[in-house]
Order: sequence, then structure tokens, then C-alpha cells
Amino acid sequence: MKSRQVSAKTTVVCDICGENILLEDSKLKHKHFPDGIHIDYFSCEHCGAKYVYLVTDAALRKDIKRRGFKSSASYMKTRALELKCAYADRVKELP
Ligand SMILES: [Zn+2]
Repeated sequence: MKSRQVSAKTTVVCDICGENILLEDSKLKHKHFPDGIHIDYFSCEHCGAKYVYLVTDAALRKDIKRRGFKSSASYMKTRALELKCAYADRVKELP
């Protein structure tokens, strides 16, 4: 029996088809909207369903650039969550 490899990769389950989606940085796509909203997203490789990963506006991107998102303050995470909810509908406009 082979020892199990420890992986840092994240797997999510697709709501539409129920398949596992391996979430890697290289699979993230980006879309910039004319009003300054930027959406990082990924799509299910099995059925093509799209999922929003991170939504930022100009102010939040400035904060992230300055402080880095991993060490970000909680207000930045709250803001990111607010934006994600507010612009959830834009998933339909993603290419
Ligand atoms: Zn799927």
C-alpha cells in the first residue's frame, strides 16, 4: 500500500454535477468589469459551471496590494465577502 501523498491543493465539489474540482492557482480566471469590479473565478472541468472565487473593487485591490491578502485585516475579508454577495449575479456574465 502506497503512503498517501499530502496535498496542499484544495478540492471543492461541484453543485451542479457533483464531481470534484481541483482548485489550483493556475486554474483561476479573471474578469475585469468596466465599473472597476474584478472577479477571480474558476469553472468546473466536468460540466463548465462557473464559481466566483474572489470579488474585489479598486479600493480593496489597493489594500490587498499594500498588505497582501493572506495577512489581510478582517475588515478586508469582510469587504471581500460583501462584494462576493453583492456581485454574485455577475457569474452569468463571465466568459
Ligand atoms: Zn460540474
